Amino acid sequence: MHAILSKKTFHHQTDHPANNKGVKANLEFYSKREYSLDENRMSFERLRVYQKNCWQKYKMAVREILLLGNPKLYEISAPVLKEELEGLKSVIEDLHDTMLDFKHKYGAGRAIAAPQIGVMKRLIYMYIQHPTVFINPVMDQESEDMMTVWDDCMSFPELLVKVKRYRSFRLTYRDQQWREQTATMEDDLSELLQHEYDHLDGVLAVSKAVDAKSFALRNQRKFLCSV
Ligand SMILES: [Zn+2]
Repeated sequence: MHAILSKKTFHHQTDHPANNKGVKANLEFYSKREYSLDENRMSFERLRVYQKNCWQKYKMAVREILLLGNPKLYEISAPVLKEELEGLKSVIEDLHDTMLDFKHKYGAGRAIAAPQIGVMKRLIYMYIQHPTVFINPVMDQESEDMMTVWDDCMSFPELLVKVKRYRSFRLTYRDQQWREQTATMEDDLSELLQHEYDHLDGVLAVSKAVDAKSFALRNQRKFLCSV
């Protein structure tokens, strides 16, 4: 006995606005293929899983954020090569989706570094009013003036750490069109991008704590005096 999976079965999916050629081709492949109910019960199970994954892809590509304790967070990331740019587009989309998902859960999140989702490349994604991608960033011209701040991180969302950061510095990087850009980062942006830059070198804010009393759980922040 054979069951034929008709194209109509997937009508709602092929009409989905987020559909793409790859998914459509796969659905057509499944629609044309004949399955024996007796012999290929597993094929249906695979199809069910495939459909579920398709829907997840349509909605958002939220990746798992590596958490404190994962040794990958201490690795040094490799520079991005120009020929890798095209392949990194989906990583940038994933960083965006993952950060927005985090922001929805925790009410915070302005930037994320690629190694935080396990992509060991020197790439930072920031979204403040509009998206900015920093590829192979290099820091220099750090100010003598330092500031002390309570820092947080998507890789340890419940923890705050008191650290010292440069008040300002210069950042040279490549944008998504591989053009070299230079910007001076000050105050909030300086603090934020030093944090993300550290991720590329496998350095976490917990390693930069000012002293032994520089840790606090987020829900205890009412006890934190101004720094
Ligand atoms: Zn972080």
